[in-house]
Amino acid sequence: MKTVSDYFGSMVFDDRAMRANLSAEIYASLRKTIDEGKELDIGVANAVAEAMKKWAVERGATHFTHWFQPLTGITAEKHDSFISPSPDGSIIMEFSGKELIKGEPDASSFPSGGLRATFEARGYTAWDPTSYAFIKGNTLCIPTAFCSYGGPALDKKTPLLRSMEVLNKQALRILRLFGNDKAKRVVSAVGPEQEYFLITQEMYEQRPDLRFTGRTLFGAKSPKGQELDDHYFGVIKPGVAAFMEDLNDELWKLGILAKTEHNEVAPAQHELAPIYTTTNIATDHNQLTMEIMQKVAAKHGLVCLLHEKPFAGVNGSGKHNNWSIATDEGQNLLSPGETPYENAQFLLFLCAVIKAVDDYQDLLRISVATAGNDHRLGANEAPPAVISIFLGDELNAVLEAIETDTPYHKAKKTQMKLGVDVLPKFNRDTTDRNRTSPFAFTGNKFEFRMLGSSDSIACANIMLNSAVAESLRIYADRLEKAADFETALHDMIKKTIKDHKRIIFNGNGYDDAWITEATKKRGLLNYRTTADCMPHLLDEKNVTMLTSLGVFSKDELESRCEIMLENYVKSVIIEANTMINMVHKRIAPAITRFTADLAKQASEKKALSPDLACSYEIELVSKLSELTDSITERTDDLEEAMLELQNAEDIIAEADYICHTILPKMNELRIPCDRAELLTAKSYWPFPTYGDLLFSVK
Ligand code: ADP
Ligand code: MG
Repeated sequence: MKTVSDYFGSMVFDDRAMRANLSAEIYASLRKTIDEGKELDIGVANAVAEAMKKWAVERGATHFTHWFQPLTGITAEKHDSFISPSPDGSIIMEFSGKELIKGEPDASSFPSGGLRATFEARGYTAWDPTSYAFIKGNTLCIPTAFCSYGGPALDKKTPLLRSMEVLNKQALRILRLFGNDKAKRVVSAVGPEQEYFLITQEMYEQRPDLRFTGRTLFGAKSPKGQELDDHYFGVIKPGVAAFMEDLNDELWKLGILAKTEHNEVAPAQHELAPIYTTTNIATDHNQLTMEIMQKVAAKHGLVCLLHEKPFAGVNGSGKHNNWSIATDEGQNLLSPGETPYENAQFLLFLCAVIKAVDDYQDLLRISVATAGNDHRLGANEAPPAVISIFLGDELNAVLEAIETDTPYHKAKKTQMKLGVDVLPKFNRDTTDRNRTSPFAFTGNKFEFRMLGSSDSIACANIMLNSAVAESLRIYADRLEKAADFETALHDMIKKTIKDHKRIIFNGNGYDDAWITEATKKRGLLNYRTTADCMPHLLDEKNVTMLTSLGVFSKDELESRCEIMLENYVKSVIIEANTMINMVHKRIAPAITRFTADLAKQASEKKALSPDLACSYEIELVSKLSELTDSITERTDDLEEAMLELQNAEDIIAEADYICHTILPKMNELRIPCDRAELLTAKSYWPFPTYGDLLFSVK
């Protein structure tokens, strides 16, 4: 029998494949490009391309594609076959270094948010040798960045790579100050925990809302939901287990380190977590994971829902972005060390994150803002839209001791002096795991929990890497000039704690009292919706930080802001249209049919025996008639409001109108429909109910 280690990574042109298929000389030059970013010359590229093609063709590949991540948030690919005609009528399989390095997809149909007006329409894709090529189906996929000819990036990978580079540069400056001259690179790593729902394809097909929008726009609460907490970590049903087994196999073949899987809180909700890896690879892998989840589900007669809130009334799905930074020598910079010096260094990196999260709360919120995720953040569900950091009691006590120059109670009864005293060991989970915090320190990494389940993790990590790089830049600028390093370091850590402690919160982030305290007393931001937060991407402080570090140009930021808002507006328009359509085509006719039958029954009964009250039929007819009146009125209202959308002056006004006028009207319309569902006989209701959907997989 084949074991996992036999086929793990079998479809990846990874280091093993490179060693096996490239000459020692070519391998060494490619490794230099991967590890140190050295430019690749065309001779080497040709040799790599030839070896890659041979390897891929042996594994059944007939095509290749530059695989990239345009601003739609999903991946894109245009397949070219390897075939090339030969004079004798046969074909040869060809793939050149040029084709490996650069591609020219037609960029004109990808969102560019006005960049095309200013820059050239054509775009090109450029190989990212730091993320291995892989075979998907019959196609060799080459991970690439996607840019326009004028320069601006049209994708999510380019700024992600830039943000990793600036973080590397600033973190190395700090390490040098601590006397570390060995580390060559500092890299951010991520392990994203992915939540999703599984329902049967049969149920899915019957719901236009799920098919068009990814979420249910109607549906009364099921008699049973997540009340009993009996699903979380519960026994996995056979149908789900078979899906997970197949999914793991597919992911493993692609070298994706799928590690844990379990049932989540809501019925039909599950989670998959891979082992963490370098941020850009983790991003590529997460995109692939989402794609493969849907493909494998289809093979099992299931549909994998990645929407953030497919069902009202039960938990939505998110993605926990576990993030840390480490040197190429494997030192985790967010791990408290063994010596006083390492501890001081740890505290400085910790402070850099605290400062970054406080200074750029808005950017972190923006990085996870989508129409779908708005249903989680700021709604009745953790985490809230207010960003705060959970540190745990022990670390918090250490920071308080430093801030106030008082002894740290658990250590020696003396004042803690950075660079001299050893910090106490911070055990993981010393306090109750805080699951409501949007940004939690978990021993040696931070867990950013606000990402939506369908988000690309690129955006969150671009902002996180950049904001932390900015803190480190400020620190390094000061420390490099300091006459007395240790005093300057101590003062700076102390100042950061003083200035930014408002962002630290160790309580229940789900509590209303916290939201009041956060916004009223602490002055933290609370952007509940995408429409509210997105325009702040262009606030001066944000533009200055991101452009001065070189992560984005001003044009790129403007275009991204526009694209995100457009995406938000379009998503909700599709939802509103789907609702209107479902009311007219399905819900209203179903209720009318049921009431007509009830009325007919009542009159037939009365014909037999005029004294019968027929109160069941008559009362139900009257209740349902009232509901249909209300449904009609609210549908008209929504339809009229939709017409007004064209009067919005610009995309910001449109998003605002969608958020504050259209969405509330959609919620209003849903209420009488869901009420009618509860009163209508099952055989009349035109699509599966929540009970059917949530408990459909056996
Ligand atoms: P949880 O209790 O939140 O499920 P786990 O220990 O299972 O936490 O880890 C969740 C994710 O965090 C996994 O993807 C794991 O690989 C990742 N992870 C662990 N250590 C690190 C680290 N140092 N940096 C980044 N991610 C990490
Ligand atoms: Mg977690």
